[in-house]
Amino acid sequence: MSYDYDLFVIGGGSGGVRAARVASQTGARVALAEEYRYGGTCVIRGCVPKKLMVYASQFAEAFEDAKGFGWTVGESSFDWATFMAAKDAEIDRLEGIYNKNLKAAGVTLYDARAIVTGPQEVTLASDQVITAKTILVATGGTPFIPEVEGRELAISSNEIFHLPTQPKRVVVVGGGYIACEFACILNGMGTEVTQLYRGTQILRGFDNEVQDFVAEEMRGKGVNLLVGTDVAKMEKTADGILVTPDNGAAFTVDEVLYATGRAPNSAKMGLEDVGVALGKKGEVIVDQYSATSVPSIYAVGDVTDRVALTPVAIREGMAFVETVFKDNPTSPDHELIPTAVFTQPEIGTVGLSEEDARAIEPIEVYSAAFRPMMHILAGRSERMLMKLIVSKASRKVLGCHIVGHGAGEMIQLAGIAVKMGATKEDFDRTVAVHPTAAEELVTMSTPTR
Ligand code: FAD
Ligand code: NDP
Repeated sequence: MSYDYDLFVIGGGSGGVRAARVASQTGARVALAEEYRYGGTCVIRGCVPKKLMVYASQFAEAFEDAKGFGWTVGESSFDWATFMAAKDAEIDRLEGIYNKNLKAAGVTLYDARAIVTGPQEVTLASDQVITAKTILVATGGTPFIPEVEGRELAISSNEIFHLPTQPKRVVVVGGGYIACEFACILNGMGTEVTQLYRGTQILRGFDNEVQDFVAEEMRGKGVNLLVGTDVAKMEKTADGILVTPDNGAAFTVDEVLYATGRAPNSAKMGLEDVGVALGKKGEVIVDQYSATSVPSIYAVGDVTDRVALTPVAIREGMAFVETVFKDNPTSPDHELIPTAVFTQPEIGTVGLSEEDARAIEPIEVYSAAFRPMMHILAGRSERMLMKLIVSKASRKVLGCHIVGHGAGEMIQLAGIAVKMGATKEDFDRTVAVHPTAAEELVTMSTPTR
């Protein structure tokens, strides 16, 4: 049988774009459908605009700190609309590059929603039917907001990037990556932020010392973080939104940002009708080669609910192309993924937390909290945390956790050493770079516990 294409990719985000381009470069005939904007969540309403907002939010502290170094800083103020316009222009530019690169790679683009109507058939919103030997589902995820009274008043991360004016008072609900990052961003921009988290400590799953450290520093910077607290209801009033927590008194804010996780984008896609197995959360179930239960259909990225990070979706897309188009079965490697949370202070982490490592084997913990040089003259009390988890038996560094300025940059490099199986002694025989904060990683000589 002949098909219109060798590969049809549904979704022009991190995983889909990379898979389409690389597959096309093998000589395959490739098409891709995108229903919204090229670049997907990461470029349009995720990593990239978020990081630009992080940068924008850090200037207030920089202006304050400058005084400690002898600078006289004039009146400063932040204009939300000016920043948003600059941010939008940059996102438009990046979207254009994604679009151009796909076309340059020979990928045929359909600016439309596509659904699966057969094991080797997709149908566009225009009713156009297209056949392909292989279909790749790379439709990402979408914000999940739980059922709560007044739910329609809440916004998600999708909307925060497009608010016309800066909210003066905000409630952020959740304690994960997005909630913590936006609590810090908005706080830095001058918004009054209350963060409500239902559990005992934010950033569940991270190293406990890192969780406590970041929570304390966020509070120190002005985020009103309330743990063990959820929203009971929200009501519209003349003055804004009246938020009633499940404990404590009600208070009024301008916006309520829900960052309570993301759901795989698999609904109304026709997947179950053609026999693609979905999990409890709606995630597309895949094997180690990203193959679904239908042999001609594969899935990568957030829709598979493995590790919801852009570089992981990209790796999964590339492994898919190796497997299907280069006759080289390849599993994406999900072990020891370094990651950063762009809170203020920032977190960089790779490998096991102290708690998880201790449950597996006897360990040594090396941990140092200190005021970095930059903060002394600035008169800032903020500290940094450096932590290594070391196996007593193999001496391998099982986990590395950094909190503080540049943690994301540092963990990319420390991640290489940890991935290579470096021991504590390998770290120790590496000469320190002085004067830096990172040198602490190679100079911690006595275990803390
Ligand atoms: P997506 O990038 O979501 O792309 C899916 C695409 O499919 C979308 O463009 C969508 O419009 C399209 N689509 C969906 N259904 C259809 C259909 N039926 N037909 C046609 N098109 C369809 N990760 C990091 O690594 N670092 C970060 O700093 C980071 N920050 C983030 C901040 C926020 C606020 C959010 C929400 C996420 C962040 N992430 C970050 C996660 C990262 O964005 C995702 O892991 C990544 O984008 C997943 O890529 P994907 O290809 O699976 O899906
Ligand atoms: P997360 O899964 O990280 O966090 C969700 C948070 O919402 C948790 O604190 C969770 O609480 C809470 N929650 C879930 N359901 C409810 C509910 N019904 N009521 C109240 N609270 C609830 O999701 P995010 O949305 O923050 O981010 C999604 C993913 O995107 C991340 O996991 C990450 O992989 C990726 N991402 C990566 C970034 C980066 O690399 N810097 C930045 C942003 C996103 P509990 O802990 O109790 O379950």
